[in-house]
Amino acid sequence: MVGIGTPRPPVPEPDCAECEDLASRRESARAAHDRSAETDADVPLRGHRRREHGNDECRAPRKGPGTRER
Ligand SMILES: [Zn+2]
Repeated sequence: MVGIGTPRPPVPEPDCAECEDLASRRESARAAHDRSAETDADVPLRGHRRREHGNDECRAPRKGPGTRER
């Protein structure tokens, strides 16, 4: 599995109360400049997204050195 330690935080779904709750927890951690609490808050949100919404944060197409276009 790829994606462990991704710098991008998970994005909350706009119409989900639990996403909102978890995201607001992250926001308050950010407001307090508490980086570790901010990262901690990403974990349940990421897990919740995967479980409840069936997707993760890596929705964008990957562009890597292995990608070739012709
Ligand atoms: Zn949700």
